[in-house]
Amino acid sequence: MRDATLCPIHPTVSEDGYASLTVPTHRASTIVFEDAAAYATRGQRDLDSYSYGLHGTPTNRVLEAQLSALEGAKHTVLLPSGQTAIAVCFLAALRPGDTVLIPDSAYPPVLGFCRNFLAPLGIHHRIYRPDGSDLAAQIDDSVRLIWMESPGSTTMEVQDLPAIVALARDRGILTGIDNTWATPLLFKPLAHGVDLSMQALTKYVGGHSDLLMGSVSVNDSDLRQRLRDQMRFLGLGVPADAVALALRGIETMAVRMAHQGRIALDIAQDLAARNLGEVLHPALPSCPGHDLWCRDFAGASGVFSVVLPDASRLNAALDALQVFAIGASWGGTRSLMAPMTITRANGHPRNDKTILRLQIGLEDPADLQADLNAFFSILTNQADA
Ligand SMILES: *Cc1c(COP(=O)(O)O)cnc(C)c1O
Repeated sequence: MRDATLCPIHPTVSEDGYASLTVPTHRASTIVFEDAAAYATRGQRDLDSYSYGLHGTPTNRVLEAQLSALEGAKHTVLLPSGQTAIAVCFLAALRPGDTVLIPDSAYPPVLGFCRNFLAPLGIHHRIYRPDGSDLAAQIDDSVRLIWMESPGSTTMEVQDLPAIVALARDRGILTGIDNTWATPLLFKPLAHGVDLSMQALTKYVGGHSDLLMGSVSVNDSDLRQRLRDQMRFLGLGVPADAVALALRGIETMAVRMAHQGRIALDIAQDLAARNLGEVLHPALPSCPGHDLWCRDFAGASGVFSVVLPDASRLNAALDALQVFAIGASWGGTRSLMAPMTITRANGHPRNDKTILRLQIGLEDPADLQADLNAFFSILTNQADA
C-alpha cells in the first residue's frame, strides 16, 4: 500500500502474552462490521453489544457491569452527569398528563427540571415531605413515579424507603432514588424494591473532582429499554476517556469512603458536643430519620451539615480557611465548605437559616480540626479569646 493509505490504517499487532490490570480505553464514534450482513442487521443487536460509539464501547460496558455488581442490578446505564441521569429517569417513566412526586429535600435542580422542562410538556409534579407523612394523600391516578433522595440534600432527612416503596407498589407506581450520598457501598436501593437507583458518579466514584458522570441501575429489562430509548432520542452518551477516570476512581472508592466517613463523623460529633449549631448527620440521634438510617444503611459517607445560629461573620470565617476549600460538590480528595440557604414550603423551620455543608476529604484530620477551630472562632467572634 502507498504511504497515504498506511497513515490512517493501523497495523494489527499480536496481544499474545500481554495482560494488565487496567481496562483499555476504547474510544470510538464509528463501529465497523465484519461483513455486509452484520451491518444490515446492526439495528437488531441487543443493548449490551455495539452499533455506534454513542451507545458505548467495551470500556463503558466494564463500568456498567461493575456498577451493576455493586448495585445488585441486572442493568446500568451511564449518563454525562448526575443531573442527566435524573432527567432520563423522569423521561423514561413519565408521559404528558402524568405526575411525579418529589421530596422537598431533593437536590434543588430536580425541582428546576420539573418546573421548567417537564411542566411545559404537560408532565406535572408535586412536592411531598421527606418523612412521607403527606405522601398517601398526594397520590392520585396520574402519579407514575415517586422520587426519593435519602439523606436529603443539605438538610439530610433520611426517608422510610421500604414504606414508600410499599405504598407505590400497591398502586403500580414506579419508584426511583438519588443514592449519591450513600453510594451502593452503604445502601443498595434495588434490594429494597426501588425500580431506579441513580447516583452522581461525579462524587464518590470519580473521587477526584475532575469528572462529571451519572448512572442509573435497574433490574427490569423493559425499564432499561426505556432509559436507553430516551438516551438515543436525546443523543446522550459518555466518552470512554471519562469512563476511564471513573474506572480508576472506583478502585479506591471503598477505602476513601470508609476514611472520609470516619473522620466526618468524628468532626460532626465534636461540633455537636461544642454546641456550635445543630449538626445534621444521620449517625447523630438528633438527625431526622436517624432510626431509619440505623435500620437501612451500612454506614455514613463524608458529607453533613451544620445549621448556623448566627451567620453574620460567615464571610470572614470562610475567607480565613487554610485547608477547606469553598465549594458545593463532594466526593473528592479535598475538604469543602458550602454555605446553603433553602426555600422549602411556607413555614419550614430552616427556611431562614444558613446551613453550612461540609465535605470531608483526605487531608490530615489534625489540619482539618485546626481549620475548623479557626473558622468557628471567627464565626462566634471569639478570635481573640
Ligand atoms: C452532585 C449531585 C447531583 C448532580 O450530579 P452532577 O454530575 O453534578 O450533575 C445529583 N444529586 C446529588 C445528591 C448530588 O450531590
